[in-house]
Amino acid sequence: MKIFEVLIIGAGVVGAALARDLVRHPLSVALLEAGPEPGEGASKGNSALMCTGWDTPRGSLEREMVRRGYERYLNEAPLLGLPIRRTGSTMIAWNEEQAETLKAEREAAREDAFAVEWLDRAALYQREPKLGSGALAALFIPGESVVDPFSTVHAYLLEAFVNGAVFLPGRRVVRCARRGNLWEVEAETGELFRARFVVNCAGLGGDRVDAAAGFHDFVIKPRKGQFVLFDKLAAPLVNSILAPTPGPAGRGVLVVPTIFGNVMLGPTAEEVDDPEDRAVTRAGLDFLLSGGRRLLPDLEKFPLVTTHAGMRPASDKSEYRFIPRTEQGWISVGGIRSTGLSSALGLAEHVTSILAKSLEAGPARDIRRVRVPDLSAGRVPAWEDPSGPEDGEIVCHCEKITLGEIRRALASPLPPVTLGGLRRRTRAGYGRCQGFFCGARLAELLREQGGGKN
Ligand SMILES: Cc1cc2nc3c(=O)[nH]c(=O)nc-3n(C[C@H](O)[C@H](O)[C@H](O)COP(=O)(O)OP(=O)(O)OC[C@H]3O[C@@H](n4cnc5c(N)ncnc54)[C@H](O)[C@@H]3O)c2cc1C
Repeated sequence: MKIFEVLIIGAGVVGAALARDLVRHPLSVALLEAGPEPGEGASKGNSALMCTGWDTPRGSLEREMVRRGYERYLNEAPLLGLPIRRTGSTMIAWNEEQAETLKAEREAAREDAFAVEWLDRAALYQREPKLGSGALAALFIPGESVVDPFSTVHAYLLEAFVNGAVFLPGRRVVRCARRGNLWEVEAETGELFRARFVVNCAGLGGDRVDAAAGFHDFVIKPRKGQFVLFDKLAAPLVNSILAPTPGPAGRGVLVVPTIFGNVMLGPTAEEVDDPEDRAVTRAGLDFLLSGGRRLLPDLEKFPLVTTHAGMRPASDKSEYRFIPRTEQGWISVGGIRSTGLSSALGLAEHVTSILAKSLEAGPARDIRRVRVPDLSAGRVPAWEDPSGPEDGEIVCHCEKITLGEIRRALASPLPPVTLGGLRRRTRAGYGRCQGFFCGARLAELLREQGGGKN
C-alpha cells in the first residue's frame, strides 16, 4: 500500500487549491472525494463572488484568508485561463438609518485599508440607472468581482493532477485510525489509504470526517441558499453586484451579474437539518423575487431560466473551524461557510506552509502550468473564432457550444464523468432550455468516452 505524505479529504475548492499548492513542494499528495466529480458540494452552488473581505469580521482568520486568497486569485487566475469580471459591488441605503450604517462601514473599511467609495444619489443612479427608485446613497466596493466557480475548482485540481497529485473520486471516507506515525483512512469502497498527514476539507461532511478520526470540535449546520437565474437578455439592466444594506434580518437579496452573462438573484440563508435538502421553495422564491423587485424592478420583465439551491458548510461557530493538530498529523479546515471561493488560495497557502515545515519538504519548485477554457460571456466563442480549430457543429444552441469544445473537455487528463460535470466544464446544457434539446446528445458523447455512469 502506497503511503502518501498528505491525504486531502474532499475535492471542493479548498481541497483542490490545497493540492495545487502542495505539489509545488516535492510532496506525494492524494485527494479522496466522495462524489464522482470534483466540486460537487458547496463549491457548486455559490454566488461566485470573489470577495475582497471588506465585510468579514475584523481580526478573524476568515478576513486574513479572504484577503490573501483574493490577492492571489487576481494574480494567478489569468495564468490558469480563468476570467475575472471586476464589476464592483454597490451596497444601497434606502433610508437615513441605512445611510448612517453604511457611513460607519465606510470608515471601518478605510481604517482597514479596503478601497471603498461613497456614491450620493446622483452618482448612484448614474452608475445603476435601472435601480429601483427611492435610494438615498450607496457604498461602492470597486474590488468585488465575479468569477467562474466551476472552472476554478477544475483548474486547481487539474494543475495539481498534472504535477503528480492522485485524484480518487467515489471514495467516501468512513473510518480513520492512527497507527504509529501514520493515519490509516478507509473509504466506503473498503480500500485503505495511509498517510503521514490528513487534511480534512470535507465541507458539509467535515464534522463527520473529524468524528471518524476521534475529533469532535465542531458541528456542521448546513445553511441553504436559493437562487433565481434570469436570461442573458437582462444583462444590460445592471452593471455591478447590487446589495441592500445588511440589517438585523441578515444580508438580504443580491443581484449578481454573472460571469456567464446572466443575472442572478439570491441567495437565501436558511438553516436546515439535511445537507442534501437542495429543494427550491415557494417561500424562498417569494423572498428573492420581492428583494429583487426593490433593487431592479425591470428584472421581472425578463424570462427566468432556472432556480437552484446551494448549501453552505456553516458550523456551530461563526469563525472558520481551522484546527491544526500538527502533533497528531491531522488538520481540519472546516466550516468554510460563505467565503471559501475567495479564501481558498489563502487557506491553501496557510496549510501548505504548516505542512511543508512539519514534513520538512523541500522548497517550492516550478510546476507544469495548465490553462482551462474561458467560458465567460466576454470571450470570443469557439464557433466564431477564426484562429481556432475546426470545431464541427454547434451541439448546445442556447450557449453556442461546439462539438469540438465538448470533445476537448472529454479528452482532458481529468475528464468529466457525469452530465453535470460536462455541463460545468463546457456550459453545454446551461442555457435557456437547460439541456432539453442537447441533453441526449451530450449523454451520448459522454457514453462514447466511457463516462455517464452517474
Ligand atoms: C449559497 C452560497 C453562496 C455562496 N457565495 C459565495 C461567494 O459569493 N463567494 C465565496 O467566496 N464563497 C461563497 N460561498 C461559499 C463557498 O461556496 C464555500 O465556502 C466553499 O465552496 C467551501 O468549499 P469546501 O471545499 O470547503 O467545501 P465543498 O465544496 O463542500 O467540498 C467538500 C468536498 O468534500 C467531499 N466530502 C464530504 N464528505 C466526504 C467524505 N466523508 N469523504 C470524502 N469526501 C467527502 C464532498 O463531496 C465535497 O466535494 C457560498 C456558498 C453558498 C452555498
